[in-house]
This record gives sequence, C-alpha cells and structure tokens, in this order.
Amino acid sequence: MSDQLEQKPRQFEMRSGPGEVKPDRRAWSPESMRKCQQRGHFSLHSVDHETKRLRVMKFGGSSVGDASCIRRVVEIVERNLSESDIVVVVSAMSGVTNRLIEAAARSEAGDVESAASIFDELYTQHLAAADSLLGSPLERSRIHQQMRDVLQVGKRLCEKSNVAGAVTPEARDVLASLGERLMAPLLAAALIDRGVASEAVEATEVVVTDSCHGAADPQMHPTRERCEQRIRPLLRRHIVPVVTGFIGATPEGTVTTLGRGGSDYSATILGAALDADEVIIWTDVDGLLTADPRIVSAARTIPEISYREAADLAYFGAKVLHPKTLRAVMQHNVPVWVRNTFAPDGQGTKIIPRETAIVEGVMALSVMSEATLITIELGITGGPNVVGRALAALTAARSDVLLSSQTSSENNLWFIVPSALAHRAMEVVRREFTADATLEEREGISQEPNVAIITLVGGNIASISGVTQRALDALRGVNVPAKAAVHTSSGYNISFILQKKDMKAALTTLHDEFQLGQAGIRNMMA
Ligand code: ADP
Ligand code: ASP
Ligand code: MG
Repeated sequence: MSDQLEQKPRQFEMRSGPGEVKPDRRAWSPESMRKCQQRGHFSLHSVDHETKRLRVMKFGGSSVGDASCIRRVVEIVERNLSESDIVVVVSAMSGVTNRLIEAAARSEAGDVESAASIFDELYTQHLAAADSLLGSPLERSRIHQQMRDVLQVGKRLCEKSNVAGAVTPEARDVLASLGERLMAPLLAAALIDRGVASEAVEATEVVVTDSCHGAADPQMHPTRERCEQRIRPLLRRHIVPVVTGFIGATPEGTVTTLGRGGSDYSATILGAALDADEVIIWTDVDGLLTADPRIVSAARTIPEISYREAADLAYFGAKVLHPKTLRAVMQHNVPVWVRNTFAPDGQGTKIIPRETAIVEGVMALSVMSEATLITIELGITGGPNVVGRALAALTAARSDVLLSSQTSSENNLWFIVPSALAHRAMEVVRREFTADATLEEREGISQEPNVAIITLVGGNIASISGVTQRALDALRGVNVPAKAAVHTSSGYNISFILQKKDMKAALTTLHDEFQLGQAGIRNMMA
C-alpha cells in the first residue's frame, strides 16, 4: 500500500440530512483498503473507467433479509465488478419499513414505550446481521454505533410526536427512511469485508425531490448535478457507492420518501441521472412474470417486454416494480432488468424501450386487491364539471385515483382508490361537494370496499376486437361477475372491476384463457 494512503486514510462522510443521522466519519479503514487492493478490486491508478459499462443494481428488502441473503448480494456485486462499474441501491431489510411505520402509529396513539420496543427489536435484528457479516471487531463496533445513532433518531422523533399528539408528514418520512439508513452502511461494510471498496451514500445527498412527503417526485436536473459531484468521483476511484433507496430530500434538505416500494424508482432515477448502461432490479422472483406467482402458480417469466407494457403492469399492481419505476428512464432508453438474487444465473426479464410486439396481444395480468370503489351519484340535477372537480380535488390531496369512469351525462362518476386512502378520498370529495346546492348534503356519495381490479396488459389490446368480451365470458363461466370493464387511453390495458373474494378465481381463469403460461403465445384472438 502506498505511504500516501497509510498516512491519509480517507475521511468519508455519511452526510446527514435533516433526519439528523450522525455522520459516519470513516466508511472504510486503511486495513480494508489494503484488502481491496489485494483482491484487485481497487486501484490507485485510474484505469479504463471511462469506457467501462455502468450498471445500477437495486437489491430489494427480500434480497437483504438477513446475513445469508446479504452475502449473496455481496457475491453478485463482486462477480459483476470485472464487467462494469456498479452503483448499488438498497432497500431496508424486508419488513423493517412496516415496523417503522408501526412505531409512528404507536407513538401517535400515545404508546411511546411500545414504539421504543420496535427500535430495540430492529437493533437486535441488524446487530445479528452485522456480527455475522463483519470480521473486524473495529468495523463491527463502528457499525453498531452507527445503528444506535440511526435508531436514536427514530426514538427521539417518536417521543416528540407523542408530545405533539401527531406524526407530521416530515417526521413520518424520516422515520420510514431509517431502515434504508441502517442497511446501506451495513451492506457497504459487508462489501468491504469481502475486499470490495465501497462507501455508503445517503440518497438525501443525491436525489433531489419535490416536497410531497410519502410520494415525492424527483427533480432530475439537480439530481444529475449531485450525482456528478457525489457518485461519479467514487466510481472513478473504483469504489462501489451503496445508496439508500426509497429516500430523497427537497432542495432545502428535508427528507422525503418516494412511496412504498420506492427503491425501484430510486434505481431508475440514479440510472437516468448517471446515464447508466442498464439498471438491474434484483428481487426474489425470476423476473417479471405473466402474473403474481404467489397467486397464479402457472405464471411464467417474460423474457422481454416493452417499457409501456411493464409500466402498465407495475401501475396496475405488479409489486415487483414500483409504479413509477419506468418513468425515470423512458426518455433515456436505459434497459431495465428484473433478476432473481437467489438464482442469479437465470436470464430474468429485460424491459426495453421499443415495442416488442410484432404480434399484439395479451402479455400478462396484474391485480390490485386492496381497493375501494367510490361512487358519486348526482341525479338529474348534477352540477357542472363534477368529474373535473372531483378529480382535481383528489389530485390536490394526492389521493391516488387508480381508475375512474363516468356516464356520458356526467351525472354519475365512479373511481377507485387504494383502500388505505379511501377515508381521505371520501373526505376530500365530500368537502368538495357538500357546499354544492345541487347535491343534497353528502347524499349520493358512497363507497364500496373490498373490490379488486384485474388488468390484462399487452400491446394495443384495447383495440383488438373481442378481447374484452372473451375475458368477460371466461369470468362468467366461473361465476365471477365483473362490475365494469374499462381501459385507459394507453390502449395497452383492459381492467375488470370485481369483488376481492373472486380475485384468485378470476386471475387463474384469465391466465388460462389467454394461455399466458405458454411461452411464445400472445393471445389476441377473440
Ligand atoms: P423486493 O423486496 O425485491 O422489492 P417485492 O416484494 O417488492 O420485492 O416484489 C417482488 C414480489 O412481487 C414477488 O415476490 C411477487 O410475489 C410479486 N409480484 C407481483 N406481480 C408480479 C409479477 N407480475 N411478476 C413478478 N413478481 C410479481
Ligand atoms: N423499504 C421501502 C418499503 O418497504 C422501500 C422499498 O422496499 O423499496 O416501502
Ligand atoms: Mg419492492
């Protein structure tokens, strides 16, 4: 090792955002740098970095669920480093974000002690992983301290929220972000332990977003600049940045989150900002499948699919991709892969910019099962522009409308929202129309919980005659009544609204009907 490095160990900093996580003053030691050099993962001299491909690899919660999973992730990164530079984006360990949100709920309800017990559990869980992964006692105690600091932020926020009687959207985002903040330094340390030069990077330093807490959108121009300042120099030095997924920060530095499951979106945001050659979403299934394999056992991995089709599948519920994932790369033509961390030699799914469909037809099915149908009946005295008003009010309140439809007279409007947002959506709509003289006080606005939306996705299927009828007939054949069939303007989807209890029967029936389990078939005929 050069004297220069011996004398001047690098002072890397895990810069703290407004979440007040204390800085990590040394992400890797001279000892670990020596290891990296011995293994050939690190060079003092700039080599062919400029010509090397760049991949952004995102590892989801299930891929980092415990120490043995994290070891697989380290192996995947290590194996791929000879071919490309890699930026890692990582989620919280599976289940951790749910626990953090639970802690927020408990403290809001006045139960600070039981909220605190969640942080203690999370400490034990992460400690076990760190102790199993890290050989050096020094590194272990450094990571332990860092974990305590991160969790202390959570405890303090819960105490404050308890006193105030509410968790603010800002505090909720900081709390929700802590799982990723525990994970990124741990994964970086595990890489270093294997001799891969690495550094944890807080996404608050690089992903600039608007201030919509819980569903923030990126501002790509400043994000690009920050990536050049913070990530590119690491790549030039052959250091693997491990970025916290799911998180961003406003230009002023307030922590935001991109929405549940948002690490996929983080990966494509960084892929676009860094002009990556590809983005790989590593998860716990073989790729993007023709249906959720947890529900349809005959589901098959799709080898190649277009951005548009994959975006529709994600939008209509395929959890494997956050609904906005492809938005970030659409203008940049960066291919996105979905691959299995637990079967890394499998081919996976390649999501490509251009349309694949020479033959158009049904490609796959998605389902959203936690949905509520809200209906506004205005009778013949309905006021002007009811639809526009309702949707504008819901949009302003960020109450995601998954689907909506109206009668031609505008006297009847229905829309579907995620059940978790139904209460808020009802309030928003009632507020909007209560003062309306044409609407008898709150009457005419009703909700029906427990509905499911099943969506057929494929190139131009909405304009292929007979597809909708064929699906409806198949559903009728198994006694599943569909309340409605609708398609959006993309023409790539047809959705059926049904009761949640019929979801599984409907999915398996439609999967069979369109022969989606059979390779090479795109079933278009009626
Ligand atoms: P991660 O922890 O890697 O982010 P997620 O749980 O968010 O993983 O997403 C992976 C899960 O998505 C799979 O285990 C699978 O059950 C579910 N899923 C739903 N629809 C699909 C689909 N069409 N293809 C693949 N997986 C799907
Ligand atoms: N950890 C976050 C969540 O559970 C983000 C993600 O998993 O992508 O929603
Ligand atoms: Mg996910």
